[in-house]
Amino acid sequence: MRKIDLNNFQVATSGIVRDINCRIILNLMRKYQPVSRADLMRHSGLQRSTVSVITEQLIAERWLREGEVGQLPRGRRPTFLHLNENRVGVFGINIQPFTTDIALANLNGHFLAQETISTPKKSETFITQFSARIRELMEEYPLMTYEEIGVSLPGRVDLSSQKFIFAPNLGWQAADLKGQLEKATGLSVSMENAANACALSELWFGKRTNGERNILVVTVSEGIGVGMIMNGQLVRGTSGLAGEFGHVTIDENGPQCGCGNYGCWEVFASNSAAVRYYNEMTGKDSLKTFAEILALAFQKDPTAWKALDRMAEYLGKGIAMLVTGLAPDAVVIVGDVIHVWDRMNPIVMKVIQQRASTHPAVRIMASGSTSQQPRLSGIIALVLQKYFAAPTVA
Ligand SMILES: [Zn+2]
Repeated sequence: MRKIDLNNFQVATSGIVRDINCRIILNLMRKYQPVSRADLMRHSGLQRSTVSVITEQLIAERWLREGEVGQLPRGRRPTFLHLNENRVGVFGINIQPFTTDIALANLNGHFLAQETISTPKKSETFITQFSARIRELMEEYPLMTYEEIGVSLPGRVDLSSQKFIFAPNLGWQAADLKGQLEKATGLSVSMENAANACALSELWFGKRTNGERNILVVTVSEGIGVGMIMNGQLVRGTSGLAGEFGHVTIDENGPQCGCGNYGCWEVFASNSAAVRYYNEMTGKDSLKTFAEILALAFQKDPTAWKALDRMAEYLGKGIAMLVTGLAPDAVVIVGDVIHVWDRMNPIVMKVIQQRASTHPAVRIMASGSTSQQPRLSGIIALVLQKYFAAPTVA
């Protein structure tokens, strides 16, 4: 049970009880649709009259729609209910250093439009370009109601100010993206860092983690980020800065990290680490990108594989720390590293078995797709959860 926060609480009213039951019905719809009212009674344990009142209210508010009439051997034929997918349209924007994705999704989380555009050099150009595209999409799908845009950023977002904390890989000056985008579109904007977005994607859309409520997502790119879902909720910490395990020191005698400290986990286990290992092994400074290492590995270059094996060893060390400390059901890896996960997984698992042997059931898995899709789905989930998550009480 969550301790009541006496600085921020709301007493329970009959409205809140109704709200909770509404959300339960909406979630059952999301999982089982199309369903009849009798199915909803069975799945929810609520009484017929309660289900009837809630569904009528949700239909009146356009959250549900009635569909086809079902066939039964005898008795009254049930009318199936669906989520009204056109009730709201949600925009998701995934900003990355080189490319930015924009998607429009419906209430079911299905993408109606998805595009990838080069990331503008300046945040001002981003605002102009993307607000114009959003207005065009709203005109293309005029039946929907639009309320919100979710934005995923390659850096941390300070939740108290909703400003993103300078993301060096992006090269933009820290700006009030939220305020500017809201002004330009008339919609409200929520921002989240990429690792948290990926974690939300697993919670709301993950097929293999379906039903699990303790999920860690490790995003592996030039750095390492961790998104944490504990008890079905994103863990944000003070100012939303939790999850920076990439900057936990694992060897104080290690190389200097971009954050200024020495021997952070990401200095040993990120894509940049694999590039450094390769260059150290060959004694040349010839390789620049992780994509080059992957290409060499697929050409059976033994040094490229050795560099990847060392990276896997260190990924295992860090993941063992996460597993020991947080006891997740599953750890999902996101990033280009999933292209070589068949080789890395046994190395990672071996380290975990040695170092986190008290958690034999934990599952380590590669994300089903590379880094772009989980971020985009996750930022859509960030907005959609406002309609489906339990209302806040006390
Ligand atoms: Zn660091």
